[in-house]
Amino acid sequence: MTLAAVLEAPQTPVVVKAVEVPEPAAGEVRIKMEACGICHSDLFVAGLARPPLIPLILGHEGIGRVETVGAGVAGLAAGDRVGITFLAGTCGICEWCRSGRERYCPQQRNSGYSVHGALAVYACVPAQHLIRVPDDLPAAAAAPLCCAGWTAYGAVREAQLGPDQTIALFGMGGLGHLAVQYARHRGLRVAAVDVAEEKLALARSLGAAITLPAGEAARRLQKEYGGAGAAVVFAPSAAAIDEAFRSLKRTGTLVLVALVNDRFPLPIVDAVLKGITVRGSFLGTRQDLEEVFRLAQSGVVRAEAHTHALDAVPGLFAKMERGELMGRAVIGF
Ligand SMILES: [Zn+2]
Ligand SMILES: [Zn+2]
Repeated sequence: MTLAAVLEAPQTPVVVKAVEVPEPAAGEVRIKMEACGICHSDLFVAGLARPPLIPLILGHEGIGRVETVGAGVAGLAAGDRVGITFLAGTCGICEWCRSGRERYCPQQRNSGYSVHGALAVYACVPAQHLIRVPDDLPAAAAAPLCCAGWTAYGAVREAQLGPDQTIALFGMGGLGHLAVQYARHRGLRVAAVDVAEEKLALARSLGAAITLPAGEAARRLQKEYGGAGAAVVFAPSAAAIDEAFRSLKRTGTLVLVALVNDRFPLPIVDAVLKGITVRGSFLGTRQDLEEVFRLAQSGVVRAEAHTHALDAVPGLFAKMERGELMGRAVIGF
């Protein structure tokens, strides 16, 4: 037997419990995990009325080494160091798969959601979308890149701003603090927004030129800075989305990232007369993920990661729900 963080029933607290050591089916590999980050989307999955797989091992931000290779897996061998992301499997033939946008494949399978995830001593996952991870990157620093880093990088790219333009980033948690660094790397002026002053201080230390408390951000961005060219919402809050919309300048882009089971009323007249674009952004491209690892390896971007033992998972989920985690919480195995 071994240990894993398991959602035993919908809308119940996650528990750490003994499970069988999994055997890889065809197309799968068994990975001895080194580290796995905890993502707000794990909470989202735990809160669903009907998740696709129950009981479910959570986690989609893992680093480990291949231990056993299942039938029909080519290109991976025991000892290879790999990263597990939310994207576990795709059909390979739909219009999105064929155009490098596999993350929008309607047939996709997702780690810690529709297949078992990486918050486990041993993870058994499809080999199809595993990413190779450089040996010299510490596992705790690399794990947050598999979801937080990838997603933040993709969202900043989707904002489509050029150097010196202002990007407003709402939510300075696991994704936001990485997005500050990717935006700075692109030469953007970063306005960081959060409810917590200590998270704004972290954003300042990472290069945010402007830091604003939530609730004041839209008004002050308009009045003092001429509005944002794009606003990206990492905070799981409809109020944050509303404020992000109001912080945009004309022809600005609102990029939605955090998953919120809610709606926000789109101010139609403003959207039309100001030429506003509203778009969702989910993960990123394969090239984005490779660039995310290169930027970490070269020291350009650093994840603020705090390592905990597996038995800390239930407490960390409770803290995350209260918005009390700084940077990324990572489980070390
Ligand atoms: Zn995630
Ligand atoms: Zn597909």
